[in-house]
Amino acid sequence: MSKYILTIGLEVHAQLTTRSKMFCACPVEYGAEPNTHTCPTCLGLPGALPVLNAAAIEKTILTGMLLGCETPPVVNWDRKNYFYPDMPKNYQITQMPFPLCLGGGVPLGEFDYPKDAQKSIANPGKVVRLTRIHLEEDVGKSTHYDKFTTLDFNRAGTPLMEIVSEPDIDSAEEAFAYLTSLRGILRSAGVSDADMEKGNLRCDVNISLRPEGQKELGAKIELKNLNSMSAVRRAIKFETERQAGCLDRGEKLIQSTRRWDDDRGETTLMRTKEDAHDYRYFPDPDLLPVHTDVIKKRIRDAGPLPEVPKSKSMRYMGMGLPEYTASVLSSTPSLSGFFECATDAWKQVPAVKMANWVSNEFLAKVDIDNFALESLKFTPTSFGEIVYYTENGKISNNQAKEVFAEMFETGKPAAEIIKAKGFEQVSDTGALEAIVEKILAANPDKVAEVQAGNEKAMNWFTGQAMKASQGKANPKMVTEIVRKKVLG
Ligand code: ZN
Ligand code: MN
Repeated sequence: MSKYILTIGLEVHAQLTTRSKMFCACPVEYGAEPNTHTCPTCLGLPGALPVLNAAAIEKTILTGMLLGCETPPVVNWDRKNYFYPDMPKNYQITQMPFPLCLGGGVPLGEFDYPKDAQKSIANPGKVVRLTRIHLEEDVGKSTHYDKFTTLDFNRAGTPLMEIVSEPDIDSAEEAFAYLTSLRGILRSAGVSDADMEKGNLRCDVNISLRPEGQKELGAKIELKNLNSMSAVRRAIKFETERQAGCLDRGEKLIQSTRRWDDDRGETTLMRTKEDAHDYRYFPDPDLLPVHTDVIKKRIRDAGPLPEVPKSKSMRYMGMGLPEYTASVLSSTPSLSGFFECATDAWKQVPAVKMANWVSNEFLAKVDIDNFALESLKFTPTSFGEIVYYTENGKISNNQAKEVFAEMFETGKPAAEIIKAKGFEQVSDTGALEAIVEKILAANPDKVAEVQAGNEKAMNWFTGQAMKASQGKANPKMVTEIVRKKVLG
């Protein structure tokens, strides 16, 4: 494998989170009754005219700002002509020579890589350059059955942002990291839900292999139908080996498009360059060019740009969080929102303690990529309360885990659960002193050991007192009482 150089470029289509479609007022709604969100414009009826969606343009320019792109002062709209049943107009409105964003890049952070690859990152701190980002409209959805196909035009005309990278990516792991980083940025800006499994982030991979020492790139082979981050990684691995095998046997690779079969874990040929489309692009006569300066000014005047995961992570590290925890908690806006709410509500609790609880106990129960604050039965504030009780010694760590399990299921407040479970720790000094005195009286030899400076014996007393109170004693108080009674 080392005889060949791998070159990868990604084309990502991200569905924008606008309320209406790109060129009409139809609502954008996932999972609605088929063909209920259509109108003459998005059905391509004769005489219907497109009207630009300002929010879609704004979200695309904002994305460009976060990724360090340039937005030209004037951009244009073009028609990409082809025939397919899911596209009623027989052309797609897109941007060919004058897209909304040019240049820029996506930074790859250590924790953007797959877990098993984080130890062996080939190019730490790498930034994958972008070619362009343009705005276009989506097509409808066809569903194929045995003898017929159904068409749903609800998606036809919804805004799509296409993000095209330079062929800068050198491995399957870098492609994975690129998508992870990009997804985090899109989500933090609120411009896209960016979920590959739900189809609102779709990715095509251009991949080519060439022998070491050869200057020009090998034949460009495009992979389609990749519907998860892990599929992208596996498809690239498979395709790299397949192409290397071909080159080893002296075969010539030709420019082509292949489909990834996720179940079989392999790619199959869809079409070669000979039957490539000629899209006959031309400027759309129904749409005027857009002057972007006004829009850029509006974005800047609206306040500071959204915080991208990388800067959020730095801020968390400033609060004392270790790098890994900081990067996990800053990876999605819903998770960082949860963490920050809990931290703000319980300023007495060190942020790093709260962070540990969120990244361990909380994340053990929710899917980091797929949870909504609204779907939880409890608030971040009531979650933080559990951590607060653990910190001040009201309940032990194991008890806290039980309390959280119950809160997760029922949404009951922490104090109520603690009471019902009888977890209330004994913090009554008189009661604790009585327990400790009894143990001291029964173990004069151990008392002598502590007085001789044996710290271990001190812990032994704390353990005995905890046992005697059936785990309900406040350990901090017990330690203090033992220290006071033995050492005076
Ligand atoms: Zn419409
Ligand atoms: Mn496209």
